[in-house]
Amino acid sequence: MTVLILGGTAEARELALLLQERGASFTSSLAGRVARPRLPVGEVRVGGFGGAEGLAAHLREHGVTAVVDATHPFATGISRNAVAACAATGTPLVRLERPGWAAAPGSDAWTWVGSHAEAAAAAARLGRAPFLTTGRQSLAHFLEPLAEHTVLVRVVDPPDVPLPAPWTLLTSRGPYTLDGERALLRRHACDVLVTKDSGGAHTWPKMAAAAELGVPVVVIRRADRPSAVEVQPDPRTTAAWLTARGLA
Ligand code: NAP
Repeated sequence: MTVLILGGTAEARELALLLQERGASFTSSLAGRVARPRLPVGEVRVGGFGGAEGLAAHLREHGVTAVVDATHPFATGISRNAVAACAATGTPLVRLERPGWAAAPGSDAWTWVGSHAEAAAAAARLGRAPFLTTGRQSLAHFLEPLAEHTVLVRVVDPPDVPLPAPWTLLTSRGPYTLDGERALLRRHACDVLVTKDSGGAHTWPKMAAAAELGVPVVVIRRADRPSAVEVQPDPRTTAAWLTARGLA
């Protein structure tokens, strides 16, 4: 019996720890997007599988008995592949997804948008100095609409595209503190925060700091997920889900 955890999130690392404590057999999979990823405990493989078919072949070859899709709420491609590969191989699949921030205090005052392009337009309208925290892969959507804005952009690894002259690049990795985020927003005089609805506590301090300072927030909504896949909200309930079915 071996569980495949599709990871790249803090929750996936926490689940790996829980499964290790139980003596379960599991492998974590990372896409290989970041140069120096935080590694989970236990066995780790890195890199794409080659689409849904490649993932299905991997499940067969490695005798995977269950898949936990613990990828980021905005990593929709790999989740789609997991659904298809698990259906094709009859492998049980559970989605570990932290709840979004829609019900968080102050969320009704945020500007909710459906795409990165809409987020760029909203940020351009709402401020002159946006704090952009949507990740390196999404930068292309913001370059043109915010080319004249004094953007502070925070990413884990340096972007592979040149940034407009008025932009300031900050490479760092969370989790962050409320004091740190407040000081950062003040230091750069940020007047609008742009974020995905990542959810969870790790990146929440920027939202709290923005609320304190009266900085408007633009939040990109999560895409709809296939409703047939069972969702667990945290690593503990996911581990219990696996155990209850004799899968770990
Ligand atoms: P994506 O668009 O859903 O996936 C694109 C391709 O990357 C997949 O088709 C797959 O390649 C490969 N891939 C993605 N996650 C993988 C994993 N855990 N293990 C092996 N291959 C994986 O994904 P993404 O948005 O680029 O995210 C990539 C990774 O970064 C994910 O693991 C995710 O949890 C993490 N992450 C994403 C975000 C975000 O905002 N998107 C934020 C934080 C962390 P093949 O088709 O070749 O199998």
